[in-house]
Amino acid sequence: MPGGTPLFQIHLKSASPSDRDAAVARLRVWADEHGTRLVEPAEGPGGQPAPVYMESLPEPELADALAALPGVARVEAVQARGRLVEGAAARTVAIGPARFGGGEASFIAGPCAVEHEERLVALAKRLRDAGAAALRGGAFKPRTSPYGFQGLGRRGLEMLSTASAASGLPVVTEVLDPRDLELVCRHAQVLQVGSRNMSNSALLQEVGRAGLPVLLKRGMSATLDEFLYAAEYVALGGCQDILLCERGLRHFDPAVRNLLDLSAVPALKQRTGLPVIVDPSHGTGRASLVAPMIAAAAAAGADGFLVEVHAAPADAWSDGAQALSPDAFAAATERADAVLAACGRRLARATETATPER
Ligand code: PEP
Ligand code: MN
Repeated sequence: MPGGTPLFQIHLKSASPSDRDAAVARLRVWADEHGTRLVEPAEGPGGQPAPVYMESLPEPELADALAALPGVARVEAVQARGRLVEGAAARTVAIGPARFGGGEASFIAGPCAVEHEERLVALAKRLRDAGAAALRGGAFKPRTSPYGFQGLGRRGLEMLSTASAASGLPVVTEVLDPRDLELVCRHAQVLQVGSRNMSNSALLQEVGRAGLPVLLKRGMSATLDEFLYAAEYVALGGCQDILLCERGLRHFDPAVRNLLDLSAVPALKQRTGLPVIVDPSHGTGRASLVAPMIAAAAAAGADGFLVEVHAAPADAWSDGAQALSPDAFAAATERADAVLAACGRRLARATETATPER
């Protein structure tokens, strides 16, 4: 495995659930004593008890000691890259009216941060009518400066639920802290893990166990290997519906906020069957570049798009420079629709399937 640390897959003896729990508890203690960590997927394929994994071993010889622990049947070093994610069969992720993969692509659109309830409700309906299939909006914002607007938290989540009920659009929102996970799950249909948290393995595992689809953003300077390993952590938690999101990389030229790596789209799709979506808003930082990059992403094979839209971009509390107006968003979806059709794919819109309140 080039440059990676092997995981150790531990097959437990088939035993009663309580014997299994006892074996896992012993492994947790063993992991603590040896400065490593036990990764415990929720369940295996078809609801079978899954193998557990030791994140790393300080010395390779310790694999024998591990295999000799009570309740352990055998230990295997996972030498390949991520087992669940790499080489995974092509997968279509369906979330309400949205479709990602299988020849269909959808738009997730909305403001960077949730600000006002009434404006969010009106915007969500407008986005739905303009071709969106899911609503995005941050209630917990990962801001670079601690003095920047950090999001409305619980109140923002409630506003998202209200806008979702009014528009029929499922909610995609970011979770920053495992302590907020339960609360976020009450309001979201998709959990977003942001670029700054792509390497937070504790959060990735918790989010993977939550039972909701996960939108995982590529770290701003993460290699594709690192990105796929991050997805592997989510998959190890039992989550199969993972959307990989390219959102631009740190680079040298202040002309654009980030360098949108569209080559990541086909490169990732050659390695995994998970859907790959593109965020041209953070990927460029400039509203005027968003529609062309959506078109390019569609041509490159993207299975969806995450786009920031604000009713009045100049007044946005965060990321106004990259936000599209609702009219510009409508034009961008039509353009994407045409590009997708030219490539033999189609745009899945909420207006085709939902019967939302007007
Ligand atoms: C976002 O989508 O709101 C966001 C903060 O993006 P990123 O994590 O890519 O910076
Ligand atoms: Mn933003």
